[in-house]
Amino acid sequence: MGRIKTMVALPLPKLPSEISILQSLALDLRWTWSHEGDALWSYVNEPLWERTHNPWVVLQSTPAERLNSLACDQKFLDELSTFVAARERYLQTPGWFRQTHAASDLGGVAYFSMEFGLGAALPLYAGGLGVLAGDFLKTASDLDIPAIGIGLLYQEGYFRQIVDTEGAQQEFYPFNEPAAMPIEPVVLPEGGWLRVSLELPGRTVLLRVWQAAVGRVKLYLLDSNDLLNTPPDRGITAKLYGGGTEIRLMQEIALGVGGWRVVDRLHPEIEICHVNEGHAAFAIIERARQLAVKENINFWEALWATRAGNVFTTHTPVAAGFDQFHAGLLRKYLPYVEGDVAGRGVRMNDVLALGRANANDDHEPFNMAYLALRGSGMCMGVSRLHGEFSRRIFQTLFPRWPSCEVPVDYITNGVHVPTWDSAEADRIWTEACGKERWRAPLIARCENMTSVSDEELWAMRGKGREGVVKIARRNLARQLRERGADSETVQMADAALDANVLTIGFARRFTEYKRTNLLLRDQERLGRMLLNESQPVQIIVAGKAHPADLAGKSMIREWIDFAHQPRFRRHVIYLEDYDLDLAQHLVQGVDVWINTPRRPWEACGTSGMKVLVNGGLNCSILDGWWDEAYDHGLGWAIGDGGGGAIGRVDALDAESLYDLLEREIIPEFYDFDATGLPRNWLKRIRRSMYELTPQFNGARMIREYVEKAYFPLSRSIRSRMNEHCANAKAMNQWSRSLHMRWPTLHIGNVTINRNGESWNVIVPVYMGEVIPSSVQVELFADASNGLDPEVVLLHQEQAIPGSNNGYVYAGAVATSRPSDDYTVRVVPHHPDVFLPSELPLISWQR
Ligand SMILES: *Cc1c(COP(=O)(O)O)cnc(C)c1O
Repeated sequence: MGRIKTMVALPLPKLPSEISILQSLALDLRWTWSHEGDALWSYVNEPLWERTHNPWVVLQSTPAERLNSLACDQKFLDELSTFVAARERYLQTPGWFRQTHAASDLGGVAYFSMEFGLGAALPLYAGGLGVLAGDFLKTASDLDIPAIGIGLLYQEGYFRQIVDTEGAQQEFYPFNEPAAMPIEPVVLPEGGWLRVSLELPGRTVLLRVWQAAVGRVKLYLLDSNDLLNTPPDRGITAKLYGGGTEIRLMQEIALGVGGWRVVDRLHPEIEICHVNEGHAAFAIIERARQLAVKENINFWEALWATRAGNVFTTHTPVAAGFDQFHAGLLRKYLPYVEGDVAGRGVRMNDVLALGRANANDDHEPFNMAYLALRGSGMCMGVSRLHGEFSRRIFQTLFPRWPSCEVPVDYITNGVHVPTWDSAEADRIWTEACGKERWRAPLIARCENMTSVSDEELWAMRGKGREGVVKIARRNLARQLRERGADSETVQMADAALDANVLTIGFARRFTEYKRTNLLLRDQERLGRMLLNESQPVQIIVAGKAHPADLAGKSMIREWIDFAHQPRFRRHVIYLEDYDLDLAQHLVQGVDVWINTPRRPWEACGTSGMKVLVNGGLNCSILDGWWDEAYDHGLGWAIGDGGGGAIGRVDALDAESLYDLLEREIIPEFYDFDATGLPRNWLKRIRRSMYELTPQFNGARMIREYVEKAYFPLSRSIRSRMNEHCANAKAMNQWSRSLHMRWPTLHIGNVTINRNGESWNVIVPVYMGEVIPSSVQVELFADASNGLDPEVVLLHQEQAIPGSNNGYVYAGAVATSRPSDDYTVRVVPHHPDVFLPSELPLISWQR
């Protein structure tokens, strides 16, 4: 507990009135993606800005004389007022949402995430999930979506990495001084800091609420490090993905339950709860619980209402990746749900059942993704391929449903382009396609990029490469100095890399499925490419391994050993402490971004999207986003996307990667014409830029979320909440009764006769206790022989004489498909219920 420190908000030095606006500029994280902002802050205090990239710290630590001199520096004041005017314009100009959906009264979206990666100055992220969440909020601001973010403020966040001379990763958890982060406490109108409370076993824990401004969007951050809490409780929000299972559960309760309490307190207008990965799923329970109390209805009725306003984005590609807790732990932590709504129909076992595939198996752990799926009207994977795999892994929750009908759709992730483009790329895109290109409605493609000349593109690439070489040398020299290298060795850093050499970037989390050592399988072969005299190659590598991931750590060591060989020193550099800052530099400068995950573990992957705008090219396994983006002429696909035994696939993929490098990538890069330009390479860059950037872009992602999820969900939750949840109550009743009566339903013998070009199907269905209008009788054919799955509705004909509630159903299908492909089934039917999501009953013909 020694690390816990009290958070005190340090005051800012008094700013002269001419420049007092700097305070609100420093607190608006828009500087994380505004190139003009970079120049401004660098002018205020260049060394501090270079060191911290945190304007809040720059302001706090710049001496008063400097601030006073800025106040009478006309050049600075002019730049400042231009910048302020630009920001005003940004904030005031209606974005895509208010332009395109001016009539919409969408009540707002609360985006819950365990991590947010907005900038290196707010280190509340570990990797891709957090960076996506950060990009989501930035894009929501650009598009003017009524959204807020909900997350945790970690006192230490994720670890910082140092790699010692032996190649061993060391982890450090520097204290995140909240006073030095660009955030503020949420102060109540009546005064005082907003705190929300959590009922944990035997005590109440208080969570302080902070806010960060992300352009137009607010991010609320909860933290337990309050003197009013006991020392152990103050550490609940200490580390991201640190601590044991119990701490993790408490963090997830803080995020979901505490987070929804913030929504309730500050933003009662919110209609959509967006659960980004299962960690935040307790928000679903809390949302329903609160409504039950407010409306004085039972928990399940409330869940029928609120579920329609929840959307779950799943990021996990394999079932083993889901977050799970022992039931015993939940029995310890969740009784408050029961307590508050006692007599409202909620029993602990029923709550536990929400997180289990089999409600009756008391040994089954509680799965957060199951809760999230069961508690949401919609569920989205993060790429087309991931949607497909997710339908398979969630199939356990939909017994006897075909996997193609498991209700998991997908919206492919996208990146916030202005965060990742270089100033130079920004300039070229602006000239070709205008400043509003990523924000304006419906730019599907940016064909004007085709008019940018080869010369200009190649000059941009050259600048980018020069930039990343410079940063790599600077970081390498620092690493060497800090490791105690002699000055001669440190000086060698200046000779590392070459700004005219094909530069490959490889940066990601070091973990087994990412196969971060695939490129090292045949080191002699790789070495020959690196050292080729006429067509050399250089590689910049970065990435952390989770502290407990020994395989990941050993892959770091492999790279260090490789890079330390004297002959490769100038060609291979491993840069420590991969973070947002370093990622920005890398994606702006490298020529080729390599990604080698084991399919389908990548889910989506986003780092490769960040190079697109800068004219970098992707060479990747056909996994995640690349599986849907790849086309010959846009980049390169490693392997063929096939499966098989792991060892064999690894060997084939490595072989394929080497072949691509030797036969295509390296020769094409160096295929200069008489004027020194690689025309084919440039052609590829141009296509990759204008075809892929608009698509694998946060604006496209958010537009899809708005139109595919938020709008329909908002209509649905409104209708369910109307008149004190009358519809939700009726749905609850409907589903319970159907569930209970389902076993009384039977399908009789099916008769299929050929009639010309059709199969005529007739089947008696004995409904038993089931009301016929509650169900649909269908013919189903699964995908086969290249044909898509097919569902054909059968219609009710006459009642069967002498039967109780028995009817003949009939219909016809074309004979283009064999009759054996079809099976009769009965499924629930309700125009306003998400099916099969909310009631996965099904009966098949025997
Ligand atoms: C984009 C990004 C990631 C995610 O990269 P993937 O290739 O999707 O794993 C991780 N860390 C940082 C710092 C990033 O910027």
